[in-house]
This record gives sequence, C-alpha cells and structure tokens, in this order.
Amino acid sequence: MNTFIYPGSFDPVTNGHMDIIERASKICDKLIVAVLISHNKQPLFTMDERVDLLKRAVGHCKNVEIDCFSGLLVDYVAEKEASVIIKGLRAVSDFEYELQMALLNQKMAPDIETLFMMSNINYSFLSSSMVKELARYGGNIKGLIPECIEEDVINKFKK
Ligand code: ADP
Repeated sequence: MNTFIYPGSFDPVTNGHMDIIERASKICDKLIVAVLISHNKQPLFTMDERVDLLKRAVGHCKNVEIDCFSGLLVDYVAEKEASVIIKGLRAVSDFEYELQMALLNQKMAPDIETLFMMSNINYSFLSSSMVKELARYGGNIKGLIPECIEEDVINKFKK
C-alpha cells in the first residue's frame, strides 16, 4: 500500500489544493490530506471546520482521506505508515521554504521522500490568504475554491 501525505493549513481549501489532491491521488493507493494544528498561525476556520470543508470538497475522490495532526510531520508520516510527503509548488517564492523543510525532513527521516508537484498554471497565483482577503471585502471568489464551500467562506465574514 503506497500512502502519500499532503500536509497544509487548508484555511480554507482552494482549487489550487484541489488540483494537487486530484493529481496526487492518481499516483498513490491512498492520499491522506493532513490539516496541520499550528500554534503559530491564527486560522480563520477552526480545525473541525477546515476538516469538514475538505471532506465535502473531496467527496468525489475515492482514495482520499482527511485527517489532522500536530507535532512533527515526519512522526505523523511514520505513524500512518506512509512513504511520501506531497507538496505543491506555486512559484519561485515557495521554493526556498519548501527546500529547507524537505531537507530538514530528509535529515530526520531519510526513508521518507518529499515529492513536489508544480501548481497548475491557472492556480499558481492562488493562496488561502488571497481568498480570505477577497472574501473579507466582498470580492468574487468564484472559481477559486470548490463551489460546495463558497457559501461557508462568504458567510464567515458576515458574522
Ligand atoms: P496556503 O499557502 O494557501 O495557506 P497551505 O499552507 O494550506 O497553503 O499549503 C499546503 C500545501 O499546498 C503547500 O505544499 C502549498 O505549497 C500547496 N499549495 C497551496 N496553494 C497552492 C496552489 N494554488 N497550487 C498548488 N499548490 C498549492
């Protein structure tokens, strides 16, 4: 069983994330999308909300599971008996941080590979923070996030 882990904040999941999820799920037996419980970032959506949004968004992907984790990613990957960490690369700006993380993880766990997928050109400008910024000021977020979660994101700023 070839299990891949796709970690991130997913605050909220975007179509850029979805593109990586759909492509990665085709080259593994099981893909676990793992929402990071971060103590540094103050997320807009709670952990439960982010997991729920993801679950609805990936409903059509048969071999994709949604989970959450805290602590070291390599420990979580080992616990899930996975072999590969999947990361999306949008632009050169992502590269330096991702390289540092991948090398650090390689040092800690040489058996775990980090695999990078180039972002789809249509989503290479897209981040969760941009979506939140747009939604906050009433901008149009259609086509940027899965349709089934649009209302949730818009309503979050109405409260
Ligand atoms: P964000 O930077 O949008 O807050 P996350 O922390 O949730 O994203 O990112 C999780 C993973 O998804 C990272 O590997 C990140 O590079 C990747 N990713 C984020 N947005 C995109 C996108 N638009 N296209 C491809 N990969 C992406």
